Amino acid sequence: MTEKLQAPRGTYDVLPEDFAARTALEAKAREVLGAAGYERIETPALEQTEVFARGVGASTDIVQKEMYTFDEGSESLTLRPEGTAPVCRAYVEHGMHKLAQPVKLWYLGAYFRRERPQAGRYRQFWQVGVEALGSDEPAVDAEVVVLLVTLLGEMGVEATLRLSSLGTPATRAAYRDELQAYLRANSDRLSAEVRERIDLNPLRAFDADHPGTREVMAGAPKLLDRLDASDREHFDEVRRLLDVAGVRYVVDPTLVRGLDYYTRTVFEVTSEQLGAQSGVGGGGRYDGLVEELGGPPTPGMGWAAGIERILLAGGRAPGAAAPVDLYVALGMGETEFALAHEARRAGLRAQLDLGGRSMKGALKQANRLGARYVAWVDGAGVQLRDMESGEQREVPRDEVVRNVLRGPGL
Ligand code: AMP
Repeated sequence: MTEKLQAPRGTYDVLPEDFAARTALEAKAREVLGAAGYERIETPALEQTEVFARGVGASTDIVQKEMYTFDEGSESLTLRPEGTAPVCRAYVEHGMHKLAQPVKLWYLGAYFRRERPQAGRYRQFWQVGVEALGSDEPAVDAEVVVLLVTLLGEMGVEATLRLSSLGTPATRAAYRDELQAYLRANSDRLSAEVRERIDLNPLRAFDADHPGTREVMAGAPKLLDRLDASDREHFDEVRRLLDVAGVRYVVDPTLVRGLDYYTRTVFEVTSEQLGAQSGVGGGGRYDGLVEELGGPPTPGMGWAAGIERILLAGGRAPGAAAPVDLYVALGMGETEFALAHEARRAGLRAQLDLGGRSMKGALKQANRLGARYVAWVDGAGVQLRDMESGEQREVPRDEVVRNVLRGPGL
């Protein structure tokens, strides 16, 4: 026997019954983000590996362990693990710095990471995201955060917003040295994994679950206490504007994001409606990224949120399919085919019974679909049945669509 074929580990099929909720989310994103002037962009699922190596950072988990990378001729390509670096690549490639700034974009698509699959964590998952490029105003940070909070609220997600600031690269570098010295002085109490990463990524020590490491980290110096005056001012203004918008947040000085490109504001949204994988979305400011990718110095700010987790946390309501106006039964010949086609051209939702059902079966199926009218050819005319009133009569073939359009009754 041949082996049963299945979707690859960590991937899933989006089935017809899943689409009502997904479509509603996409429509809500278009409405909320579009209303604030954000325009849709989609980049390819594949990018040159360099986009992520430079953009996301060579020392990150994503680039070190989680990318699907392959060679295409002399080129190394990668299935996109995130959306910010590709959008910045597109901004540079299309000279968007010449447009009115900031350039405000949103996207929704599939992303790929070779992670250990579990509930809420996939190898192919969908994200909705926004990026605002070309302004370092705190109002941009606040607006971008408010848009995520608003979208989640509209989708019925109860979420907690955590906020912090990473300062500028210079502040971060000095802080990094300070933190590394502190970690080395306490290295005997750290987990082996954290100890090994002191040089590469000391900030990740704040994420550790290991009890000894957590104890050490409780006394560790905090980046938030080391911000210079202008970063501090920027952060205070972001907070003030979030207060103005009535958005609640918790300042979390231990917040680190898994990507290297962040500067100043970083944030994450979690939901208790989810299990272990409680992260719904997150993002921050990345003032050096566009330049890193070969563009002019351009500040940027954005976020991405997981579609699966939004739907899971918001409780995906089973969507009712739109009811059928006309169900054409008892045959699939020329007349029936033409009738269904004509009805659709007139703007009706019409289905032809492609299952070859009997009268009884056809009426049952029409009921299941919520069909308003059922029609079938009867001699030279057509029998038209109003499924709500049960009324039925013969109408001339070329008056069927007009009758249905006119409804109700016959
Ligand atoms: P990140 O870019 O890692 O901050 O991810 C942003 C959001 O995308 C997370 O908060 C999740 O909602 C979602 N996400 C990231 N990785 C996965 C994954 N492997 N499976 C499902 N959702 C994910």
